[in-house]
Amino acid sequence: MAQVRVRFAPSPTGPLHIGGARTALYNFMFARSVGGSFILRIDDTDKARSTEESLANILSGLRWLGIDWDEGPEKGGEFGPYFQSERMSRYQERVDRLLSENKAYRCFCSPERIQEGRERMREECGLAMYDRHCRSLPPEEVEKKLSEGVPYTVRFAIQGEGKVRIQDKIKGLVEVDLRQMDDWVMLRADGSPLYNLCSALDDADMKITHIIRGEEHFMNGVKQMLLLEALGETVPEFAHLPLILGKNGKKLSKRMAQTNLLDYRDQGYPANALVNFFTLLGWGFDAEREIFSVQEAIERFRLEDVGKSGSILDEDKLAWMCGMYIRKQSREEFLANVAPWLVKEGLATEEQITESKDWFANLLACDQERVRKYEEIPPKIAHYFKDSLEYDKKAWKNLNKSEEISALLEAWLESLGRLRLPPSWPNRPREADVQVLLPTDKDKPNTGGGEYATPLELEEAARAVAEAKGVGFGKLVHPIRAALTGTTMGPSLFDIVYLLGKEKVEKRVGAALKALAQKAD
Ligand code: GLU
Repeated sequence: MAQVRVRFAPSPTGPLHIGGARTALYNFMFARSVGGSFILRIDDTDKARSTEESLANILSGLRWLGIDWDEGPEKGGEFGPYFQSERMSRYQERVDRLLSENKAYRCFCSPERIQEGRERMREECGLAMYDRHCRSLPPEEVEKKLSEGVPYTVRFAIQGEGKVRIQDKIKGLVEVDLRQMDDWVMLRADGSPLYNLCSALDDADMKITHIIRGEEHFMNGVKQMLLLEALGETVPEFAHLPLILGKNGKKLSKRMAQTNLLDYRDQGYPANALVNFFTLLGWGFDAEREIFSVQEAIERFRLEDVGKSGSILDEDKLAWMCGMYIRKQSREEFLANVAPWLVKEGLATEEQITESKDWFANLLACDQERVRKYEEIPPKIAHYFKDSLEYDKKAWKNLNKSEEISALLEAWLESLGRLRLPPSWPNRPREADVQVLLPTDKDKPNTGGGEYATPLELEEAARAVAEAKGVGFGKLVHPIRAALTGTTMGPSLFDIVYLLGKEKVEKRVGAALKALAQKAD
């Protein structure tokens, strides 16, 4: 088999859509699975709608997912240029050849005449297509119109009336009735070429061996095949990917799910989780496994194994998968990934994060299992950076549950005075946070740094207070959590106490006592 060459050919007329990202990924995986080349070609013939911004968005999106191209923009390659707008001069000669061989013809019809013809065709045979009026114009008439300067388009002349067969690697063998195919326009009246012409000729010139793209292009594939056959060119293999559907089983739309790839990046979805998720939109690793690396997928990927029917984009599953990938990150990786969100939300500067990286890593680790994307972290930890808190309804209820709570909080505060709680950030010494403090590390000794009290010791001391006061542990723990965080949920309370540090803990308990006293007045 010839060296496999595949291409992803986006039009830079908008941001990279997740459907496009999946197409690019499947091309990339196929190329890598057979040692072929993955080419990025920019279909920018639509001058009015193509923008630099869209191009930059597409390139960033592919790079973010780790879909690296072998030839294309910013890389070059021996089959360039890789921008269709720079390849315009290559099409005319082939159009002229088709014209001289009567495989294409000039169409001088006005839009009104075309419309009339269509309507007549619809009435006569149920197919609203061009009635091929200009296909049988006598040569003298063509010459006359040309000399009069009547504008014309160039149409491809579909030959024959039978059925044409197209072997698609995913859809299988499909038969298409030639009578249902329009004599499609190759060149507009201003001489500009249309998609099917450019695409097919570029694919041939770039020696593309397999065309892998969305199902919506299947009929274009038939047109492109007929064109290449008419020119005596090799026709690439086709593989049309099933549609991506929304949960309602209809074609995915913006209303049903977020469709711009970079929105996922900007909200902090892990790129490797998204790659895994996209891979499953049409292909399966095996009957059981859903989580796998792109490398593992490449080792098994076969175009023939791509499913024929549409794949539903299940956002709940995506969220679950992102959570799984986030859990797998080391504390250092997770901090590096989340740091931009901390900076963006104004919680800390890059320098502060670097300076106190163990404290930040511990802080984030406590919530690592609870999030599916990085942007969920700042609201969870924002309270660590606040001077004063507001209590949510439930937290206030927990604080205010019984008369004895003030006394309990006071007793707890007093017990803390006998322990060495690390100072609050930013005055926290680095050595206070060197220890691993993962909630998943429950079995390991959860020690603090050196001379400081550990979360475990803090918990033991609190148990002793509850016991001395003759109350259940919960009676003490819930008001403490409310006083320290203003909420009722979150990671292990004594990790919070430890990470919050002495000054902040004292201040918050003091504020809670004050609020309770005021309420009692
Ligand atoms: N530029 C076309 C698109 O973005 C390319 C389709 C193809 O792969 O041929 O839909």
